[in-house]
Amino acid sequence: MSPNAPITQDVMTIPRKLPEGKVNLVGLTRDQLREALIEHGTPEKQAKMRTGQIWQWIYQWGVRDFAEMTNLAKPYRAQLAENFVVEIPEVVTRQVSEDGTRKYLCRIAGGHEVEVVYIPEEDRGTLCISSQVGCTLTCSFCHTGTQKLVRNLTAAEIVGQVMMARDDLDEWPTPGAPKDETRLLSNIVLMGMGEPLYNFENVRDAMKIAMDPEGISLSRRRITLSTSGVVPEIARTAEEIGCLLAISFHATTDEVRDVLVPINKRWNIEELLQALASYPKVSNSERITFEYVMLDGVNDRDEDAHRLIEHIKRHNIPAKINLIPFNEWPGAPYKRSSNNRIRAFANIIYNAGYASPIRKTRGEDIMAACGQLKSATERARKSRKQIEAEAGLNR
Ligand code: SAH
Ligand code: SF4
Repeated sequence: MSPNAPITQDVMTIPRKLPEGKVNLVGLTRDQLREALIEHGTPEKQAKMRTGQIWQWIYQWGVRDFAEMTNLAKPYRAQLAENFVVEIPEVVTRQVSEDGTRKYLCRIAGGHEVEVVYIPEEDRGTLCISSQVGCTLTCSFCHTGTQKLVRNLTAAEIVGQVMMARDDLDEWPTPGAPKDETRLLSNIVLMGMGEPLYNFENVRDAMKIAMDPEGISLSRRRITLSTSGVVPEIARTAEEIGCLLAISFHATTDEVRDVLVPINKRWNIEELLQALASYPKVSNSERITFEYVMLDGVNDRDEDAHRLIEHIKRHNIPAKINLIPFNEWPGAPYKRSSNNRIRAFANIIYNAGYASPIRKTRGEDIMAACGQLKSATERARKSRKQIEAEAGLNR
């Protein structure tokens, strides 16, 4: 963790206690998998080959039962089953929206729950995954930020969400069958619950597994990490993950951003822009996505649009600006900007030479839209008064 991280960062990863002390192989890096095998009796000189074989069974073919790992000797399969499990989060409920969006509620260790959303589109299928239960940050427009209880997800629980969705979409290939290039699950966005850069190592390890060519094999250009602006971790994201970056920008002055995205009090707009400016080069990726939630009368005036462009131009950042119509949730202290206002804002940005797509709201009928995620069963929540006070709206 960065030495500069705010003290609100009091979450930790609680490793799953498995039955009979077995070790879960999901979420281990290749090196960790190799070590685990050696520790439980695999001869060292075989360990590299066994790691490759088991890795492929788990991540390429989606196999969870050692008995099905047919290129391993039977006694060895039995030995693996004695020491290990291949375990992913359990699906508690699955809702399908009228637009085809699927929302899963998954149970993880400790009885916690996280939400995962699958969004099918014509040319792609995007899985929106969570990195924490709740979020330690308290962005005033975000439902997840009102949830008190927080813990970091393990790497297994993060990559396990992808495996769970592949199960549900029935997308694991059959050994020997020709490779199907059209994928239902083609993209991942880390835009579910939680701040991914406050759980850096687990997110990194999970995404490395998702990118591994001998497994799930998603290109790093099909993975987008969204952060509220944990500045010291942005350079690390470029170096150690190399995926695409989205930034929850949402305001063009520190005064307003301090309220909407309180991490701005720690790292302000200028510091953030400087970190963003070096991202594309270091990660060798293309444009950065600026996410901008449209809040009626708060951040949606013409002058905000002009200021936003000015910030991006001043730092010469290759950018696309994704305008997100605010999704309401019970007790939310804001209103969505009108469609005309959003269009006018988008036009200013577009005329300045930047793509300015307006995010289509998906899965609203099942509360699966951006910022609406919050496990209903996590009873602990802040009061409406507290939310309003944090939003600076206490009347
Ligand atoms: N913690 C990360 C990722 C999760 S949020 C982050 O903040 O970037 C994913 C996106 O949804 C962010 O841009 C977030 O600001 C936005 N969002 C949160 N609440 C929202 C709401 N009620 N309506 C629309 N977008 C919202
Ligand atoms: Fe956390 Fe992101 Fe929501 Fe802010 S917008 S509270 S960082 S999940």
